[in-house]
Amino acid sequence: MRGECVTCKEFEKLIPDYVAKKLDYLTLKEFYAHMESCADCKEELTINFLVTDGIKKLEAGDAYDLHKEWGNKVEETRRRIQRSDRVIRLGFWLEILAVGIIAGIFLLLALP
Ligand SMILES: [Zn+2]
Repeated sequence: MRGECVTCKEFEKLIPDYVAKKLDYLTLKEFYAHMESCADCKEELTINFLVTDGIKKLEAGDAYDLHKEWGNKVEETRRRIQRSDRVIRLGFWLEILAVGIIAGIFLLLALP
């Protein structure tokens, strides 16, 4: 899945893992991007979420506001992607810094 676009068929297969919060960052990011661009899949996911999450809540006797719960879920996904993006960016800069330091050391050693 990495590096390629998530197709509708792949998206469908990922729904249970998404609901169970099992998707890794890269897959989640592609999953989210597809959801935002594909109305059919978004609807499919909303229904799936309603069925799995809503029934659990209703069984527990809680009031269920689908619109609100769904909004929370999407917001949570967005935040998770943002957080991971930041960590990856930080890792990238640390790598550049490390390479710079190593290059500097080599340069110093190479000096006569
Ligand atoms: Zn789709």
